Amino acid sequence: MPSDHAGLAQAVANYLRSRPWAARWLEGMVCRGYLLATFPDRPQPVVVIAYRGRSPARAEQVAHAVEHDWMETPAPCREAYSDILERAPGIVVVQLRRKNVCGCLGHRHVVVKEIPFAEPHEAFGGAGVGEMDIAYDRVESWLAQPLMDIALDTQFVAGSRRQEFHDQQLRFRLLSILLHETHHMVAPQAPEDVVRERSLTFYREALVNYVETARATMSFTIDRSFSRLGKE
Ligand SMILES: [Zn+2]
Repeated sequence: MPSDHAGLAQAVANYLRSRPWAARWLEGMVCRGYLLATFPDRPQPVVVIAYRGRSPARAEQVAHAVEHDWMETPAPCREAYSDILERAPGIVVVQLRRKNVCGCLGHRHVVVKEIPFAEPHEAFGGAGVGEMDIAYDRVESWLAQPLMDIALDTQFVAGSRRQEFHDQQLRFRLLSILLHETHHMVAPQAPEDVVRERSLTFYREALVNYVETARATMSFTIDRSFSRLGKE
C-alpha cells in the first residue's frame, strides 16, 4: 500500500486517467466524472466522488467539505471519527445522485457498483474499497436539526453572510452524511440510532462552532448583515 500521504490518492488519479476512452464508452460511462479528496490530517481514506454530467459543482462541494471544512470543526468532532476513519477502506467511493427513489439521504452499498472500482486493481496497492451514495437534492432540503437550524438561521439577516452560512451548512450536512455512512461501513452491526446520534452531534457542534467563530470575528466590525437580535 502506498505509504506517503499523497501516494494512494495519486495512484488512484493516475489509474482513472489511464483508463482508455473506448473502455469507458463501452461501459456507458463517458459522462461520468471523478473528483478525489483526502482529509488533510490523514492519508486515508481517499474519497472518490463519482458524479454525472458536465458540471462538477456539486462534487466540488463534497470535496471542499473533506479537504477544508473538516479541519475547521472543533477537535472533539474530529476525534469522534478518528477511529472510524482509521478503520475505513482505503478508498471510499461516493456516488453523488440528485435523488434516491426511496427518499433517503444516503446509503452504504454492500457491493461496489462504480465500474472502475468494482474489482481490485493493482493501482490500489491492496487498499480496500467501500461505496455509498448521497442524494444531493435531499440533503439540500434536509433540516438536520430543525430547531437549531432555524435558530441559527435567524442570526444572519438576508445578505452575503446568510448565503455563506447556508453554503457552509450544506457542506457540513454532506460531511456528516459521508461520516455517517463510513461509520456503517466499518461497523455494520452498529444500531442506526447510535450511528445517527454521532453524525448529528458532529453536525450540530460543527455548525454551532462556525456561528460562534463568525460572531467573534464580526463583533469587532460593524457588520450590518449580522442581526442585532442574534447577539442577545
Ligand atoms: Zn444510517
